[in-house]
Amino acid sequence: MEEQDLTREYRSNIKDNIVSLIIELLNKVVEESKINLNDIEFIGIASPGTISNNIIVQATNLGLENFDIISELQKYINLPMQIKNDSKCAALAEKYYGNMQKNDDCIFLCLGTGIGGAVFLNGEMLVPKKVSGFEIGHMVINKGGRQCNCGKRGCFETYASMRALKNKIAEVLDIDSDFSGEYMRSKLLDLNNKKVREVVEQFVEDLSVGICNLIDIFEPEVIVIGGSFSHYQDTPIYQMLLDKINNPQNRFNKHAAPEIKMAKLKNNAGIIGATIQI
Ligand SMILES: [Zn+2]
Repeated sequence: MEEQDLTREYRSNIKDNIVSLIIELLNKVVEESKINLNDIEFIGIASPGTISNNIIVQATNLGLENFDIISELQKYINLPMQIKNDSKCAALAEKYYGNMQKNDDCIFLCLGTGIGGAVFLNGEMLVPKKVSGFEIGHMVINKGGRQCNCGKRGCFETYASMRALKNKIAEVLDIDSDFSGEYMRSKLLDLNNKKVREVVEQFVEDLSVGICNLIDIFEPEVIVIGGSFSHYQDTPIYQMLLDKINNPQNRFNKHAAPEIKMAKLKNNAGIIGATIQI
């Protein structure tokens, strides 16, 4: 479920609603696949936000803080469970089964409602000891800029997430922003429309600034982009982004342009990665 699709009513009792939805879906999967609940080895959960020690420390877009979702779920289903950040799950899936398998130094970027990601150096995902790190979406690219849900201003995701693009497109076209991502891609992003083109050019510029910062810090061999942006492979917007990143003037290290690829596993990456244990 997309975070923006949540109704006010759902949000008002979000913890119970999430728990009952997961139980409901799990029972459905068990029934449809004709397996026995006891045959399940463990359950992996991918969640937005900061996850540490199997707890949702903070998921600002969902309004969750210090939520021990596993203990709540285990009141109903007594199976081993693990929870990880959804972008990190998708990154693991792309590393093990997708477009980062052949490289040791890689960055995975998840461009959706927010911006998340993970970094692999020498084949290992970097995992800080304190909380979880790699809050790529909250790297400031415009000091004193747009207000972010996290409390800071000018965060990367307030400019370069798909939600940021959607809000800007709705603003310049003077329409409600309740259209789907698919509708935006196929119907609204008409680059012959001057207002739309300006929004898109600014979006690509902002996205490239964040990506080039990451390239200069980590020097990845490959960057894989997932989330809803992964549907943009055959669009001029993707080519505009590649042109920006490949321009040596936009990077400190003129020789370190990585290969840019879209995620191979598309929207299933998070689900697949939730079950990878590291
Ligand atoms: Zn932020």
